[in-house]
Amino acid sequence: MPPIPVTETVMRLPLVPPHRLNAYLVGGVLIDSGGRLGGRRLLRLLEGQRLSAHVLTHAHPDHQGCSQRVCRALGIPLLCGAGDRAAAESGDQRTLMANPGSPMIPLLNLMSGPGHPVAGTLAEGDEIGGLTVIEAPGHTPGHLAFWEERTRVLILGDVLFHMQPLTLRTTLSEPFRFATFDRAANLASARKLAALDPETICFGHGPPLTAGDAFQRFVAGLPRA
Ligand SMILES: [Zn+2]
Repeated sequence: MPPIPVTETVMRLPLVPPHRLNAYLVGGVLIDSGGRLGGRRLLRLLEGQRLSAHVLTHAHPDHQGCSQRVCRALGIPLLCGAGDRAAAESGDQRTLMANPGSPMIPLLNLMSGPGHPVAGTLAEGDEIGGLTVIEAPGHTPGHLAFWEERTRVLILGDVLFHMQPLTLRTTLSEPFRFATFDRAANLASARKLAALDPETICFGHGPPLTAGDAFQRFVAGLPRA
């Protein structure tokens, strides 16, 4: 499946399995790289594109898995939020888990791609690939979202899924709790992003949502916890 235009500026790269896991290409910047076994497919999707940087919404294994491979193959720098830097550089998921003794950590580390040096961190208000960086911590400490005000497109990583994690049905849901660093902070980030009033919302998991009102309704119904 080739890259799918979301808007005139944003391309969605359907990874494996298609529509369940996405990377994005915007203004010569690759956002996320999928799981570590998808490198060949990702590089094929990027053929013919001129890239200047690779950024992460966050450094979980299904988003950083091919970051080293793609940065090395294309000679581009890796950027991420400060709170995810250690995990992006090492692949070790420990710093992204609320419980550093979680029995999930060895499994997540097995799934994780190799770390890669982070050339710089991004913070609220920075511009990358024509998008504005929005800090959206909670799912991980340094989780980032990306916003294009002109087109009202939001790329929000895993602040919310547009896929029910167990049934894989296309519906809005909170991300996996076991892998969420601070649920209350993530819910606050969802409200912060909804306040931007996006029209097109792009997710790490699930297809884009072009009904801003459905997004608003869902976020308004989230608990305040
Ligand atoms: Zn994810």
